[in-house]
Amino acid sequence: MKLEKYIPIVGEEIINEIIILAKRLKDIRVLHVNSTYKGGGVAEILKSLVPLMNELDVKTDWKVFEGDERFFNFTKKLHNMLHLPSEETITSEEFVYYLKVVYENLTKIDFSSYDVVIVHDPQPIGLVVNKERGQRWIWRCHIDTSTPTPTAWDFVRKFLGSYDAAIFHLPEFVYEKMDLPVYIIQPSIDPLHPKNVEIPDEEVRETLIKFGVDPEIPIILQVSRFDRLKDPFGALEAFKMVRKNFKCQMVFVGGYAPDDPEGETVYKELLNLTAEEKDVFVLNLPPDSHREVNAFQRGATVVIQKSIREGFGLVVSEAMWKEKPVVGANVGGIRRQIVHGITGFLVESVEGAALRIKQLLSSDSLRKDMGYHAKERVKHRYLITRHLRDYLLIIHKILSAS
Ligand code: UDP
Repeated sequence: MKLEKYIPIVGEEIINEIIILAKRLKDIRVLHVNSTYKGGGVAEILKSLVPLMNELDVKTDWKVFEGDERFFNFTKKLHNMLHLPSEETITSEEFVYYLKVVYENLTKIDFSSYDVVIVHDPQPIGLVVNKERGQRWIWRCHIDTSTPTPTAWDFVRKFLGSYDAAIFHLPEFVYEKMDLPVYIIQPSIDPLHPKNVEIPDEEVRETLIKFGVDPEIPIILQVSRFDRLKDPFGALEAFKMVRKNFKCQMVFVGGYAPDDPEGETVYKELLNLTAEEKDVFVLNLPPDSHREVNAFQRGATVVIQKSIREGFGLVVSEAMWKEKPVVGANVGGIRRQIVHGITGFLVESVEGAALRIKQLLSSDSLRKDMGYHAKERVKHRYLITRHLRDYLLIIHKILSAS
């Protein structure tokens, strides 16, 4: 049983508790729906969570909502509007097209055999129009919706009324009082995923060299989809300030998700901007480059996550698990993961990021000490076993509600 492999990491008691909880859900059928199998944090979590639920005999499927470019252009706009207040509006044409794609998906996905349907993020939120009697539907929001554009929230609200519960990462992401039960669950990383398992130092070194990065020179790393909200441009500015005093390299490891049409544009912009910079590497890797991402996170001297907005930012926990101090923007889920001054630093500006990176580059012992506390924090709060238990508890609770 794979679950047993987590015992040396989290202890036997936690695993036994999960097994006991799951027994109460035997014969229950659960469906997760999101909008991509690859790319981004949601897919990453489901890849680990769904097999574990099945192993526990909670029969769980994962299906992907399909859309075309026009649809995903709209939902990316909606995503950005939910993350940040903006002047953008949603037109009636966009709304009608959204409904059309929802109905097409309803003809492709058979929901009838499921007891619980968990819908991730806004793209598939409209599927709930097909909810059947006796079924429980949960909307799982992975976005920081603390200050959304009101019209974007109104869009979500049109569907939210039909759900039985909503889950947010953090209490402050709940924009307004809702007429349905609201739960808070923070995401997690899987320590047994190829992205997070221990790998030999030699492999780390070889990976860096393969991509032209010098293993002997300190590395500042940001791993993120190419997305403006991840602020690679701010990270680059911070690096330029740091390199005035320290010899170092900046590595951007990124990729695009099929449900994010902006990715390619941001990638090309970053590539053009850094074309002349010999110490900056912009690597566009396929979505299943887990060992490579793992190697870069282990090979990094300091990890930065300069996001403007962030639902959670799995990459922060991934780096912390590898005992790296992370300099992260003081936003969304990053703010929760990093304990300022203990596991890394929270920063408010490019200048702040540069200052903290310099502080870390100048002290091996500070990096080591913060790295130790970073791993401990992830171990206690952000591993998949905790997340799995939270899901089982909520499914149990929602099925028990009359
Ligand atoms: N990721 C990856 N390759 C990339 C960029 C990101 O494998 O080029 C992974 C990253 O390691 C993390 C996930 O995608 O597991 C991103 O999740 P996060 O919560 O940080 O951000 P999201 O993309 O969901 O906004």
